[in-house]
This record gives sequence, structure tokens and C-alpha cells, in this order.
Amino acid sequence: MTPEERLRELAVRHAAFRWLDERRAAGKETFSQDDTSNLTLAGESVRLMPTQQGIWKPGQLGAALSIRTVYRPEGSERPYDDAVGLDGLYRYKMRGTDPDHYQNRALRAAMHERLPLIWWLGVQGGGYSPLYPIYLVGEERADLQFVVDIDAVPQPDIVWPSVELELEPSYRQQLTRMRLHQRPFRAAVLRAYQTSCAVCSFRHGDLLDAAHIQEDGAGGRPVVTNGLTLCKMHHAAYDRRILGITGDYEVQINARVLHEEDGPMLRHGIQEFHGKPLMVLPERRTERPDRLLLDERFQAFLDAS
Ligand SMILES: [Zn+2]
Repeated sequence: MTPEERLRELAVRHAAFRWLDERRAAGKETFSQDDTSNLTLAGESVRLMPTQQGIWKPGQLGAALSIRTVYRPEGSERPYDDAVGLDGLYRYKMRGTDPDHYQNRALRAAMHERLPLIWWLGVQGGGYSPLYPIYLVGEERADLQFVVDIDAVPQPDIVWPSVELELEPSYRQQLTRMRLHQRPFRAAVLRAYQTSCAVCSFRHGDLLDAAHIQEDGAGGRPVVTNGLTLCKMHHAAYDRRILGITGDYEVQINARVLHEEDGPMLRHGIQEFHGKPLMVLPERRTERPDRLLLDERFQAFLDAS
């Protein structure tokens, strides 16, 4: 690739990342084929997502632009789970059994030129959530796979302890799996709750979180029934056991905090929700929060009171 060609590759990629940044800042978490087709980026007409296969190289570029992993429901083989190496880096399988298939060559070109890519992660309920920029940092030809670094650039909305060298390998693998699940989990949970806090119905996407009912560290699964869309305030209150939610979808406030005196935030933002039902639940019954998981978490809230 000539320096000019590489610059053009970078220009299209950076325009694609800006385009995604803008949509995500406006609250869009999940993208379809149609959403990401016929875009004009850096003067080129491009599509950002593969149509069929897992690897996508637009005709006018010399290297792959994106890869895609479909959502697999619970019970079937899980994406990501068996593909993280002891070094904490993900292994992405090559297309087919020929390392020199044209799509594998397109990925290799991105690796050699150190070009960033987009990884489309399947979202429960449909669509894809983008993780970018990611880099290919090596290949293991004998195993027909590339090594993927998702941490080369910090992702501001993925809050996670940085992976340190002295960590146990199994823990590093676990961290990478959790990080990969995090963005599609958020996309699925926010969609199910129509981008509103379950407790107060607040609707500002960038102040909303996808909270786990059973916590990540305690084996909580990244599925919608183990999630709640909560605003930052109610998420923090839920995590600190100031606010509890019963298996009957009722909000309870810690007795000590319930009788505290403070300003309007405490009164209207916390105390007035005591005894109230959740304001927002997913329309589909199958996506509503798991009552057993809520009960278990509520017990922890009672124990802390
Ligand atoms: Zn709220």
C-alpha cells in the first residue's frame, strides 16, 4: 500500500468513526444493514457492515473495514466465550480454511498497515452494536485466526479496570469476555426499556446505564432479563443498596435514607419513589426482569439496611 493509499484508508475509517460517534451521542445504540449503507464518507460511497460473511472490505479500499459476530441466544454456543486467549486477547476466526482467501487477505492488509476496524457485535433482539476502533495485532495461521486488540484505544463508555500484567490469565480472559458483552448488552437493554429509566422514566440516553440485576462479578449473564435501564442516579443508588427493587417490580428505599432530610434531589429523586411500581418495563413479557434474580438482589438490599 502506498502512503497515499494508506491515508485514504485512514480518512474513510476516521469519517466512519465520527459518523458512528455522532449517532451514538444522539442515543442510537443498535444499527442495521440499512442504517449503515449508502453513506458518503471522506468523499467515498461506502457501506460499513458486511452483508453475508463476517468480514467486509469495500471495493474501493485495499483492506477490510469491519468484521461481524452474530448474536447467539443462551444455550447455544456463546460468541466470545471460547475465543479469548490466555493473553486476554480475542481470536477472530479466518474465513474458511484457506489463510489466503481474499477476505483473509483483506484482514491481513489491515493488520500490516495498522488500520483500525469496526467490530459489529450482535444485539439480543436484533441489530448490531459497533465496537471501534479495534486492531488486528497478529495472526495464528495454523489455527486459522487473527489476534484482536479491543483495548488499543480507551472506550469512554466501557468502564472497566485496566488489564494489568500480573492478573491471573483466567481473570484476564474473563475481563475480555465481559468487555465484549458490555456494549451489545447495553444496546439490548436500552432498546427493551425504550431508552428510559425503569424507576423514574428519565429519557436522556447519555445519562442512562444498562444495570445488571445479578452483578457481573457474581456470574450475572449479559441478557435483557438480567438487566434494567437505570439513570446514573438510580443506578448508583441501586448498587449502593440505597434503592431496592422487589420481585414484584416495586421500589423500596433504605429506611435510613428514607428519613433523612436534604434538598429536592433526595426528596423527589429518591424518597418519593418508595413503594412505587417501576415506571417503565419492557413491552415484551419475555424481556421483563427475572423475578428470581430481583428477589435475590433485593435480599442483599435488605441485608444492608
Ligand atoms: Zn431514574
